[in-house]
Amino acid sequence: MKQEFTIAEIGNPILRSQAKPIQNIIDRNISELIDSLIRTAIASKGVGIAAPQISQSYRLFIVASHPSDRYPYAPTMPPTAMINPRILSHSEEVVKDWEGCLSVPGVRGLVPRYREIEVEYTTRQGETKQEILTDFIARIFQHELDHLDGILFLDRIKNQADLYTEAEYRQIINSN
Ligand code: ZN
Repeated sequence: MKQEFTIAEIGNPILRSQAKPIQNIIDRNISELIDSLIRTAIASKGVGIAAPQISQSYRLFIVASHPSDRYPYAPTMPPTAMINPRILSHSEEVVKDWEGCLSVPGVRGLVPRYREIEVEYTTRQGETKQEILTDFIARIFQHELDHLDGILFLDRIKNQADLYTEAEYRQIINSN
């Protein structure tokens, strides 16, 4: 088994780069990259991870929503690879909710995102899928898609007062 990758953190230029589309989906290297991303997401208890976060600048991310200390109300879904993902349309409605990022350790923030999005992506089997995603899953998709365009959740925060440390965030969610 391949070793786990180091997570690139804010300040690393790869997190500010435009990632390349994947041309050949059924490729052993891409398949290994997907497995590495899934292992890294599970090991770090992340609900999503994008390839640039392990310094692989490709348009690929994993959505791996599950309830956790950080997101007690997250829905459960098996880790799903989304290749060359894009948003086809979105709701007018925008909601502000908590996000964090493996690449921005120790910080949480309230980030505005579209509540509902219609998306398209290619699966690891090479099938093109169109889906409507809502709420938390839509939020993960938008966060991870931003990683492919060199954008971090901090860039989306409208008001600096919406930034919290992990410790302050946990006090808030535990008191609800
Ligand atoms: Zn992130």
